[in-house]
Amino acid sequence: MYDVIIIGAGPAGLAVGIAAHKKKLTYLIIEKGSAVNSIRQFPTNMTFFSTPELLEIGGLPFVSAESRPTRIEAVKYYQRVIEYFDLPVQYEEKVVDIKKQVDHYIVQTDTTVYTAAHVVLATGYFDTPNEYNVPGSDLPKVSFYYDEPYRFFRRNVALVGGSNSAAIAALELYRSRANVTLIHRSEKLRDGIKYWIKPDIENRIKNGEITAYFHTVVKEIKENSLVLENNGGTFEIANDFVYVLIGFAPDLTLLRSAGVNINPENGEPVHDPATLETNVPGIFVAGSVAAGMNNNRIFIENGREHGKIIVDSIVAMGNKPL
Ligand SMILES: Cc1cc2nc3c(=O)[nH]c(=O)nc-3n(C[C@H](O)[C@H](O)[C@H](O)COP(=O)(O)OP(=O)(O)OC[C@H]3O[C@@H](n4cnc5c(N)ncnc54)[C@H](O)[C@@H]3O)c2cc1C
Repeated sequence: MYDVIIIGAGPAGLAVGIAAHKKKLTYLIIEKGSAVNSIRQFPTNMTFFSTPELLEIGGLPFVSAESRPTRIEAVKYYQRVIEYFDLPVQYEEKVVDIKKQVDHYIVQTDTTVYTAAHVVLATGYFDTPNEYNVPGSDLPKVSFYYDEPYRFFRRNVALVGGSNSAAIAALELYRSRANVTLIHRSEKLRDGIKYWIKPDIENRIKNGEITAYFHTVVKEIKENSLVLENNGGTFEIANDFVYVLIGFAPDLTLLRSAGVNINPENGEPVHDPATLETNVPGIFVAGSVAAGMNNNRIFIENGREHGKIIVDSIVAMGNKPL
């Protein structure tokens, strides 16, 4: 039986592993994909907003060529961290159920059954895009994940959303000579757009280089067009591809199956912020999943602190099985 099983090998899960390693607990990290599976799938050419030192875990220096690291630099950095601390990670194994026993937990994956005295869910939010129930949103030309712009040269690409992700994708597509249309339900782009991105996107819209429809929603996605609605009327625009970039929400199924209560207002797993232990003794949350729907509240910069908090509280409780 492990002292701790950690679900998810993102930055938060790895930080829990490092803290467990330093306190000499027995532990295992279970990851349904590859190392830092979410970051690996971020937009191909993305750069982080944070400077490298704010993404470091375990005190290992993160050296980047520029002030803001790229996706690839981050993936390589976290892989190096796994090697440096020799963190035990089971890859390509998905946790499907957590069952409480009298004095331990059974953690069931799609292939194996494990037992542990404590379980940490560090499952992030990137696997489940926010709901978007527009007719046609299941067409193959619709994607909830932006990757790269090059196949859209001289094609009509629509972006739904008004945040950093939509703005960055719109600019990259525009500079790769796609015909870009931005569709946003509010009257203006989100205030939270980074200060070095906002003037660029606003000026491209002002110059008519990117077409933007504000206060507008998509009513239907068709094979070669989109039906849009604003000011009480509808109209149709030519379209080849749609990116719906309206954010993500954590999948709370596992937490619920383990008996963790979820705050119905914000989707937050009920937990003590001082220890990150949930209402189920011995089950903890780490990283962005702890913030529920408000996933801008916990990111790598602050979620990386969770590992030490959790392991310190497990040790303070005497690391006793439940
Ligand atoms: C485009 C973009 C740019 C960003 N830039 C920044 C930035 O500059 N600075 C910053 O601090 N933050 C940034 N963020 C946010 C940051 O990436 C996330 O907050 C961070 O990845 C959360 O880390 P995490 O470990 O909690 O979750 P994740 O990184 O999502 O890791 C969760 C892991 O759990 C695994 N998993 C999920 N369910 C299961 C299961 N049932 N069984 C097994 N494994 C499972 C997943 O495969 C994944 O590997 C950015 C996010 C995006 C999308």
